[in-house]
Amino acid sequence: MYPGRFEYHAPGTLDEALSTLDRYGDDAKLLAGGQSLIPLMKLRFAVPAALVDINRIEGLDGLSEEGGELRIGALVRHRTCERSELLHGRWGVLGDAAPQISDPIVRNSGTVAGSLAHADPQGDWGSALLAADARVVAQRSGGRREISLEDFFLGPFTTALEPQEMVTEVRVPDPGPRSAGTYLKLERRVGDYATVGVAVHLSFDNGTVRRSGIALTAVGPRNLRAHAAEAALDGQPLDDDRIREAARLAAEEAQPRDDERGSAEYKRNVVRVFVERGLRKAREG
Ligand SMILES: Cc1cc2nc3c(=O)[nH]c(=O)nc-3n(C[C@H](O)[C@H](O)[C@H](O)COP(=O)(O)OP(=O)(O)OC[C@H]3O[C@@H](n4cnc5c(N)ncnc54)[C@H](O)[C@@H]3O)c2cc1C
Repeated sequence: MYPGRFEYHAPGTLDEALSTLDRYGDDAKLLAGGQSLIPLMKLRFAVPAALVDINRIEGLDGLSEEGGELRIGALVRHRTCERSELLHGRWGVLGDAAPQISDPIVRNSGTVAGSLAHADPQGDWGSALLAADARVVAQRSGGRREISLEDFFLGPFTTALEPQEMVTEVRVPDPGPRSAGTYLKLERRVGDYATVGVAVHLSFDNGTVRRSGIALTAVGPRNLRAHAAEAALDGQPLDDDRIREAARLAAEEAQPRDDERGSAEYKRNVVRVFVERGLRKAREG
């Protein structure tokens, strides 16, 4: 199907983009990589009166570390993350997630910020960045706020973003030098959305876990953080018993449903196995 009629705006500056959003409110949609929005428009699930294409705005494609914090601009593509030297080691959870997103065509165009704004519970960035304690910077004409990812995702395809707001950057705090993590994804075939995904991101201090992040993909109405599993690890040495206990708790916290990709029981079991595997890998890292 063809999309409904819409006005097309291609602002050259951020101010222009924000004032266009202001003007249209609920009737406008930002266009980044178009990998989620265009299919929705073709199916007429989204019929915006205006598209605000942000691809010509300079300065939004930076992926950098500043003062230990990672900054991911609104136009950073999945491909850029996949190839970035920055996203290894202590940000391994992000480096491992990037190449597992769909196929090269989607990764060439799709953006990290667009993925978060789309808020698909099957999205891989949502979990990887939740585990890493990320925040989004939301800007509107004359205002700016930071929202923790935990508060950003409200439900399936729903975020805390106001219609006049744009995600201009994603910020990931410094996890400290002794940090490691990974992203594990089960997919039916290469390029598919996750049947289950698990993100693990740990920081260590003197042989104990200083801070843990565990987040789950495709087993709930949004990307979920496994709080009970994290609490079982924080301040503790990462021994085999604790790893097994955290994996058991994460499986309990998952909210999977039976669907064509597998039964809820099967997915819960995959969560348990992946959390265990992810924690062991983080310990080695
Ligand atoms: C075949 C296929 C397979 C895929 N497989 C996977 C997969 O395995 N894992 C996965 O995680 N994803 C997958 N995706 C989704 C893909 O990652 C998209 O790139 C991503 O979800 C959206 O990013 P985008 O830049 O293309 O956003 P767009 O499609 O341009 O926009 C998506 C939504 O976000 C809004 N938006 C975009 N940018 C901003 C911003 N800066 N501020 C506020 N709102 C914004 C738009 O208005 C729109 O509502 C797949 C997509 C396709 C087509």
